[in-house]
Amino acid sequence: MIKIGISSCLLGNVVRYDGANAKDKFIANKLSEYFSFVPFCPEHQIWGTPRTTIRLVDKQDIGIRVVTSNEGVDLTDELEAVSEENANEVAEHDISGFILKSGSPTCGLERVKVYKEINAPTEKKGVGMFAKKLKEKYPYLPIEEEGRLGDAWLRENFLMQVYAYDDVHKLVASKPAFKDLVEFHTKYKYLIMAKSDTSYKVLGNIVANHEKKDIETVLEEYKLEFLIAINKKGNVSKTFNVLQHIFGYFKKLITPDEKEEILESLNEYKEKIIPLIAVIKLINIYVKRFDVEYLKTQKFLNPYPKELALRSDIKAYK
Ligand code: SF4
Repeated sequence: MIKIGISSCLLGNVVRYDGANAKDKFIANKLSEYFSFVPFCPEHQIWGTPRTTIRLVDKQDIGIRVVTSNEGVDLTDELEAVSEENANEVAEHDISGFILKSGSPTCGLERVKVYKEINAPTEKKGVGMFAKKLKEKYPYLPIEEEGRLGDAWLRENFLMQVYAYDDVHKLVASKPAFKDLVEFHTKYKYLIMAKSDTSYKVLGNIVANHEKKDIETVLEEYKLEFLIAINKKGNVSKTFNVLQHIFGYFKKLITPDEKEEILESLNEYKEKIIPLIAVIKLINIYVKRFDVEYLKTQKFLNPYPKELALRSDIKAYK
C-alpha cells in the first residue's frame, strides 16, 4: 500500500489539546482502503494530552511566534525543534503524500489564524510550524489539508499526484535502463499534457538525452521535472485538449454517428454537463474495440483505482 503521512488526530487518535480527536470520515472510511497512514503529532509528543492551547501571534519586530493562549508563554523554539525532528522522520517512511489538519498552529497548511498582541482582529494568514517544515524539506511532496479534500477538484488533483509521485519513486528505485524510462514517459504522456504542455516538452527532451548523459543523471533530472509537472493543477481546457488528441487515434475508424456521439460528450464535459468519467468510459469502449495499444497503457485513462470515483463529480474539473 502507498503510504501517506497524516496529522494523527485526523485518524481518530486522541491527541488534541482537549483530549478529543478530529476523525475525518472520508479519510477513515474511504482513503484507508487504499493507503496506509503514518501519523505525526508534534504537540502531543512535546506536551502530552490534554494540554494548554497554543496560537500564532504576530509580534511585529520578531515576527510570528507560537505562544500559549492564556499566559502568552513563548513556545516557538520547542515546537520548532520537534517539528523539524518529525519532518526529518518523514523521509524514513517512503511517504508519497501528506494530509494535514486545517487551522492548527502546528499542522495548518494555510490560512491559520494569526493574533495581534494588541486588541485587533485576527488575520488568517499563518502556516503551522510542522506544515512549514514539511513544505521546506519536501517542496514536491503532495500535501493537502483534510478540509480542502472536500473540494472535488483539489481531491482529484491531490490523489492523482500521490499515485504519480509513488510511481516515479518506484521507477527510480528499480534502477531502470533507458528503455524503462522511455516506457514510463510514454505511459504518462497524456497525464502530463493534462497538467502542462511545456512540462511534457521539457520531459521529452530529457528522455531524448541528446547530450548522451548517463542514466543516473538523466533519471535525476527526469524525476525533478516530473515532480514539478504533477504538482501543477489540471483544468477543463487542458483536459479537453488531451481528450481531443486521444479521439484522434480512432476518429477515422468510426461511423459519423459514433463520431458525433463522442464529440457531443467531449463538449458536454467542457460545458460541465457531464463528468470526465462519462467521457473516459466512452473512449475506453473504442480503445478496446480497436485495440489501441498506445492508449491502453496511458495513465491518464487509468491513473488510480476507479473505485475512488474521483472523476465522477462535475466539480472535479475547473
Ligand atoms: S492538529 Fe497536529 S498538532 Fe494538533 S492534535 Fe492534530 S496532529 Fe496534533
